[in-house]
Amino acid sequence: MRAIITGIGDAFSALHYGSSAIVEAPAGLIAIDCPGRLLGMYRAASASSGIPIEVQAIDDILLTHLHGDHSDGLETLGFARRYLSSEPRRPRLHALPEVLERVWEKLAPAMDGATREHGGMSHLEDYFEPMELIPGQQYEVAGLEVDCRRTLHSVPTAGVRLRGPSGSIGWSADTEFEMAHIEWLAECDLIVHECGDNFKHTTWAELDTLGDELKSRIRLIHLPDGSTPPEGPMRLLAEGEVIVSS
Ligand SMILES: [Zn+2]
Repeated sequence: MRAIITGIGDAFSALHYGSSAIVEAPAGLIAIDCPGRLLGMYRAASASSGIPIEVQAIDDILLTHLHGDHSDGLETLGFARRYLSSEPRRPRLHALPEVLERVWEKLAPAMDGATREHGGMSHLEDYFEPMELIPGQQYEVAGLEVDCRRTLHSVPTAGVRLRGPSGSIGWSADTEFEMAHIEWLAECDLIVHECGDNFKHTTWAELDTLGDELKSRIRLIHLPDGSTPPEGPMRLLAEGEVIVSS
């Protein structure tokens, strides 16, 4: 399984796109989170990875939570899928029920106007197909097995695991350091873990307490601008980098 890292920034980054990725799945592309300036982000990641990321091919979005650095691109994605394609199709929006319940509060002021198809107010379902992710249940998303786990963060947030015939990737999402979450992610071949110094995030020192074998499978994102982790097996990912789990 391959994933293109499209953003490694945190909420305050002036240098990077919000932490996110595109996963190549058997039945299409899956976006993990949806930060702002989405089309520029995909263009940049396509150029540096050599893998084309076409927004019309993203039929599934795994949305971890509603902080802007993870969700501000939903408006662009929804509009792009509706208006930039001759055959508009709604992407599926997979998220915790409590995230789906409130996502339209964020999008409605910009998206609830009349559409070309009907004159009335628009709704979330005009742009996306909402799909609940319930922790503990298994889902099939674009030909991959996906499940989620709630994390310790300031708003409802879920980490996700994606499993295919050729490997698995665990994505921590924004979270405090939590051993149970790490153990859940550790069942995957490769773990992408957030790392930052702010409240409700995980520090490098906390992750460094883990065993060497586990640390060798952890890659880091979401560090503050300009900070690099100390030497060691937990390497900082770069935008446009392709990670392969097998
Ligand atoms: Zn967050």
